[in-house]
Amino acid sequence: MITLTELLTGYEISNGLAREDRKHDGLTASTFGSCLRRAGMEYHEKPITDTQPTTTVATVGSMIHMGVAMLWVKHGYDVEVSGDHGTLDAIHRERREIRDLKSVTRGRFDYWMGQNGPPDSVWKQGHVYGHDQGADETWTIIIDVLCRESGRTATFLTPYDPDVAAAAMEELAARTAAVKAGVPDIPDDRYGKGDPVCESCPFMSACWGEREEHPVFDDADIEKFALEYLAAQATESEAKKRKEAAKARLHGAQGPYGQVTVKWSPTKASTYTVNKQAGKKITVGRVSGE
Ligand code: SF4
Repeated sequence: MITLTELLTGYEISNGLAREDRKHDGLTASTFGSCLRRAGMEYHEKPITDTQPTTTVATVGSMIHMGVAMLWVKHGYDVEVSGDHGTLDAIHRERREIRDLKSVTRGRFDYWMGQNGPPDSVWKQGHVYGHDQGADETWTIIIDVLCRESGRTATFLTPYDPDVAAAAMEELAARTAAVKAGVPDIPDDRYGKGDPVCESCPFMSACWGEREEHPVFDDADIEKFALEYLAAQATESEAKKRKEAAKARLHGAQGPYGQVTVKWSPTKASTYTVNKQAGKKITVGRVSGE
């Protein structure tokens, strides 16, 4: 008898989307949000050391993608289209749309909703796919978000921006150069056991195993971290209020204003981005509702 866990684990190891990315010469756009050391482990094909429970989670994510892909096909999209920097989920050339599905936990879903949508790493990924497909400013990058636990959905979109794509391509090239040089060191902001990113990493034991040094915290450390958390929380909520107040005043603004250029699309309600002249663009607008 094969258990469901074995079935799901076997599926991901033989067919998993992450493993498929190795066919590319460099890192794919899907690695933008991931720990660079982990990306290095995958690039150098280090053996997976931790398969549970994250491997089955990845399998469930792959299966959700397959199901949604079938629905996209019914609506005229091409799905699973490979480019130089990874495989995009869906593309509709007549409508000039590139779609990427993110199936996420309830915690991440709620966090993204509170942040007016997915993080920069997700938009960079979409823009790199757009670049691979020869998109221009008439194209739209669409991010569909699905909560695996509740079934809630949200769709966000932004016009394809060649400057964002160029900056993302540059960043991806730098990350690729770093992993080609070897497996990068553990980043300063990762701390092994107890760190949710490391806890869901398939290389956790390989990364931290020989080191003994999953940090051990005494009471004084915990007190220090708790105080740090509270202090950060206070500034975070203050910053969020300031951000929301500024954002409300941006609505409808269009054009250069001193050091920044504000773009706003009247055809897509609440779509606006702030373009710092340094070249980095930040999406500040919630693009489409749940
Ligand atoms: S265990 Fe943590 S630090 Fe190590 S590769 Fe994975 S995510 Fe990165």
